[in-house]
Amino acid sequence: MSKRVLIAQIMHETNTFSRLKTDLDAYRRRYLLFGTEIEPYFRGTRTELGALFDLAPRFGWTLIPAVAANATPSGTVTAETWERLSGAVIDGAGASGPIDGVVLALHGAMVTETADDAEGELLAHLRAVLGPDVPIAITLDLHANVTDEMAANASAIVAYRTYPHIDQYERASQAAELVRRAMAGEIKPRCTVARRPTVDGANSGITQDGPMVALLAQADRHEAEPNVLAVSIHAGFAWSDMADAGPSVAVTTDGNNPHGRAIAEDMMDRIWATRAERTVRLLSLDEAMAMARRPDNSSKPLVIADTTDNPGCGGYGDTTGLLRAMLDAGLTNACFAPICDGDAVEAGRRIGQGRRGRIRLGGKIDPAFGAPIEMEGLVVSLGDGKFIHDGPMHKGTVMNMGPSMTLRFAGIDVVVTTNRLQATDRQVFLSQGIDPKTKSVIGLKSSHHFRAAYQPIAREVLVVDSGSLCSHDLGRFTYRKLRRPVWPLDPSA
Ligand SMILES: [Zn+2]
Repeated sequence: MSKRVLIAQIMHETNTFSRLKTDLDAYRRRYLLFGTEIEPYFRGTRTELGALFDLAPRFGWTLIPAVAANATPSGTVTAETWERLSGAVIDGAGASGPIDGVVLALHGAMVTETADDAEGELLAHLRAVLGPDVPIAITLDLHANVTDEMAANASAIVAYRTYPHIDQYERASQAAELVRRAMAGEIKPRCTVARRPTVDGANSGITQDGPMVALLAQADRHEAEPNVLAVSIHAGFAWSDMADAGPSVAVTTDGNNPHGRAIAEDMMDRIWATRAERTVRLLSLDEAMAMARRPDNSSKPLVIADTTDNPGCGGYGDTTGLLRAMLDAGLTNACFAPICDGDAVEAGRRIGQGRRGRIRLGGKIDPAFGAPIEMEGLVVSLGDGKFIHDGPMHKGTVMNMGPSMTLRFAGIDVVVTTNRLQATDRQVFLSQGIDPKTKSVIGLKSSHHFRAAYQPIAREVLVVDSGSLCSHDLGRFTYRKLRRPVWPLDPSA
C-alpha cells in the first residue's frame, strides 16, 4: 500500500539583532505556499522539495505537502507567523488519514517571539501528534543551530555539506531514503548531537578549504560504517541569540548506539581545537579600494563582497559603506548589487527611465550603519525584479526582488531592489540588463554564497568588512540568552 508522507519546508535564519521583525509578508516576498500550490513551484528544481517530488513516484509515496515558506534572513519571527507556519505542519499531521513518515526541510536557526528553539518546538509537537514510531527526517542548513530538543524528536538529521549551498537536492534525497528504509522496517534511526562552549568555529562552514575539508572527509568515512546513517556538521549561526547557538555535530544511527555519540564528541573536539582558524581575511574598505584602483590588464572583473551587510545573514542590504567607497575611489565600468531600498526605486520611477534625477539611496533602516548616499543619477532601467536562478544555487527557482531599477551613479551601475536579497546569482545583474562579466569591478552584498556564481568569472575575490550589522566581531553584540561562558566572548570558555 502507498505510504503517506508529510512534507514541508520552513526556512529562516533569524538574526535576533536585526530591527526588522519577520512577518508573513516577509515570507510572501520570497515564497509562502500551502498544500497544492507547492508542487508546481518546486517540481523540476534542484531543491529539497524538488527532490521529494522526484522521488515520490519511485518510492510509491503519496505526498502530503503542508507548507513551503522561505524568508530572507531578518529579525525575530512574529508569533502570528510562527503559528501559521508550524500550524500548517501540525494540521497536515492530523489531517485525513494516518501519516507513515515525514520529511521536513528546515534551516535550524529560527527564533520566534514565542520560541527560542522554533524547530525543536515544532519537532516536539509533531512527535507528540504522531507518536514515537513514525520516522521524521529533517534536512538542515550547514549554518543550523541544533538543540537537544531537535535531536530528541527528529529520527534523522541530514545537513548540507556544501557552502555555497548547492546540495539541497542530494541531502533531501538522503533524508527521504532514510525515511523509506525506516517505514519498511529496515532501520530505526535515532539522533544525537554534541556541542562545545563556542558560538563560532568550523571556519564559518566554508567547505573549499580549512577545517571543514577534513571534517567532511571524516563524516564520509563514518557514514560508510555499519549502523551509521548520517553525520551532519553544522557551523552554527552566531547572530541568533539563543542558548545553543554555535557549531554542532549530529549523528544518526540505527537504534540508540553509543558509537554515534562517540563520533559526535570526537568531531566536536576537532571543531573546538580549530575554532580560531580562518581561511578568508576580511579587508578594510581602504585596503579593498587600493586593490580596485590598481591598473589591471585582465579582462576579468575584481569581485568585492561585503560580508557585514549580507542580507543572507540578516544584514539590512541597504547600507552604503562599500558603494560609497567605490564612488569615492572614482571607479568606472563597475556594477553593484543590491541596495535594497523600495523608496529609492519609487523615486526612480517618478524620475522616469532614461532620465536623470537626484536620489537618496540606502542607509535608511538603521542610521548607525551609515547615512544614505544622495546624488544625481541616471535611471537606466525599471522592472518588476523577477528572475529565475540559473546559477548553481537555487537553480530553477524564481527570485522576486520586487520593483527594481538600475541606477547609474557616476561610473557604477547599481541594482536597487525593493525586497532584501543576497547576490547569489548572476541574474541579479543580467535580469536588469547588466552583464557583470564585462565590468572591471563588481560590488556585492554576500559572505560566501556569491562565489558559486561569481568566482568563475572573477580575476580575484575580496571580502570586506564595512562595519554593518553582520559583523564577525561578536563582542559588539549584547547577548542575553546565549549560554555562558562561551568562546570567543568569555576568556574562561
Ligand atoms: Zn547557510
